[in-house]
Amino acid sequence: MSDSLHASPVLVLTTGGTFDKVYFDALSEFTVGQAQAPRILEQARVDLDYRVEAVLAKDSLELTDVDRAALRERIEASGASQVVITHGTDTMPETARALADLETHTIVLVGAMLPARMQETDAPFNLGFALAAVQLLAPGVYVAMNGRVFPAESVRKNRTAGRFEEDSPKA
Ligand code: GLU
Repeated sequence: MSDSLHASPVLVLTTGGTFDKVYFDALSEFTVGQAQAPRILEQARVDLDYRVEAVLAKDSLELTDVDRAALRERIEASGASQVVITHGTDTMPETARALADLETHTIVLVGAMLPARMQETDAPFNLGFALAAVQLLAPGVYVAMNGRVFPAESVRKNRTAGRFEEDSPKA
């Protein structure tokens, strides 16, 4: 276990993805809406010192190197040692690997297969799981999805099966 039960607030950064998507009938498609993490954490009566900051509101397929650099800068400037990032699942492994050299932080990326606004969503469970994981894991960068935790360098999304899996380590 890390020395995680310390005083500095857990930083929750939101970036969009399915986690925050909303369905517009008129367009018959999903778009990224307001970040859902604050509502979920309030509803769950989370009694941990945390703060939520919205950094991006994008489908993760649209994230650029500039976006990932902005995310990194936000983490470095925050002073937080424990960071949860809500993120679209399609490029979560890429972002995790882009942050992998932030060695003094514990960073956990989390997403959802169905939007938080949907009744059958996995978003609240996944966010709660990520919040627990970030307090318990040693410094490093991880993906936490659907009850499993993967190191950044060895995770991939299996789009056909709709789940995350271990992969051979990536540099
Ligand atoms: N393409 C979307 C994204 O990665 C959908 C996948 C998701 O968020 O779960 O943001």
